[in-house]
Amino acid sequence: MLYLPHDDPDLAGLVKNEEDRLETTINLIAAENHSPQSILEVMGSVFNTKTIEGYPGKRFHSGCAHVDKVENLAITRGKSLFEAEYINVQPHSGTSANLAVYFSVLNVGDRILSMSLPHGGHLSHGHKASITSKCFDFSHYKVNSETELIDYDRVREIAHFIKPRMIVAGASSYPRLIDYEKISQIAREVSAVFMADMAHLAGLVAAKVIPSPVPHCDFVTFTCYKTMMGGRGGVILCKEIFGKKVDQAVFPGCQGTTAVNLIAAKALIFKLAMEEKFVSIQKKTIQNARIMASILMEKGYHIISGGTDNHQVLIDLTSKGISGKSAENCLESAGIVLNRNVVPQDEKNPGRVSGIRLGSGAVSARGMGESQIREIVELMDMAMMNQASQEVIKKVKSSVLKLCKAFPINRSA
Ligand SMILES: *Cc1c(COP(=O)(O)O)cnc(C)c1O
Repeated sequence: MLYLPHDDPDLAGLVKNEEDRLETTINLIAAENHSPQSILEVMGSVFNTKTIEGYPGKRFHSGCAHVDKVENLAITRGKSLFEAEYINVQPHSGTSANLAVYFSVLNVGDRILSMSLPHGGHLSHGHKASITSKCFDFSHYKVNSETELIDYDRVREIAHFIKPRMIVAGASSYPRLIDYEKISQIAREVSAVFMADMAHLAGLVAAKVIPSPVPHCDFVTFTCYKTMMGGRGGVILCKEIFGKKVDQAVFPGCQGTTAVNLIAAKALIFKLAMEEKFVSIQKKTIQNARIMASILMEKGYHIISGGTDNHQVLIDLTSKGISGKSAENCLESAGIVLNRNVVPQDEKNPGRVSGIRLGSGAVSARGMGESQIREIVELMDMAMMNQASQEVIKKVKSSVLKLCKAFPINRSA
């Protein structure tokens, strides 16, 4: 920070405090990660001040020589990284990207089949509180109550029954691989288009440590700040034939000017994602999540679906007699941040949040491995099982600090 401490010492202090908080806490929030410093630099660059509407070569303001190159770079790199036919890098966020895809090929009121939110889906997949549900007629599929895996037979049954125009795969909290091929087959059977929302998984897909939805989908959307480690903003990948419609739906359909600084950050992370360090972080992310899940199971925790194939571990705390909220609070006071999360069974008890969701992305970016993950799980267990003991929480917090000191946030790419 060069000028901020002079212009606004209060705000500069808050930035510093936030830097310190990140440095001294263990971050298990599945929807966060630590971005390389170069991402933060380009997001704070002069590109933030350029006003653009339209697409490279077809802008509504002059002075676009350099920003056209930035957007073209993001386009070329993104298409190559994800082996996509077409890409739009302008959506402000994952939700904007989803909205634009819906409006690109559907009419208001059309039917969409997507995953239910308490079973893992996202607000923008037609939750009643989201504008998406006011524009389109959503039905939802769920996980099987025993296996806690997506019930593909039910997806097929519902699809044949309601005949949706679009099927949406993808989730905010689903720790297993999604069989995109199977859902694309179902979509074909009912002549629906197929979209996958890989917001949480983009980094893992980019590094090829889990299978890509791209070959099976008409549209794939994602955000860049989760496993992708690239700052904020959304991206749409699609088949060439939908390219024009998607572009029009993003601008002028759903957005006005877009954020060139975020497009530049997307270009940068698409480059970094092809490099060895990014790939090794993503590999570690998968290994660390598996280790987390298996130790927690040994300790008697109910892990949704009995394990994980990605960066997420979902715990139903009902059998341990504590709520998601109380676990989240006591862990935060011990220096471990994560989020409470609904679990499939909560659907029967509206208002209840019985679980927590863990993500291994940020700790893996910090370089932590098996022995640190073991220690973190031991510390979490100790804190959650002794919530009332200030002494235990204090002890956990001091171990957390030691771990954080030994693994400072690494901002080099
Ligand atoms: C996080 C997430 C999004 C979020 O997008 P925003 O950038 O917060 O609008 C969309 N879809 C899924 C499945 C997500 O998990």
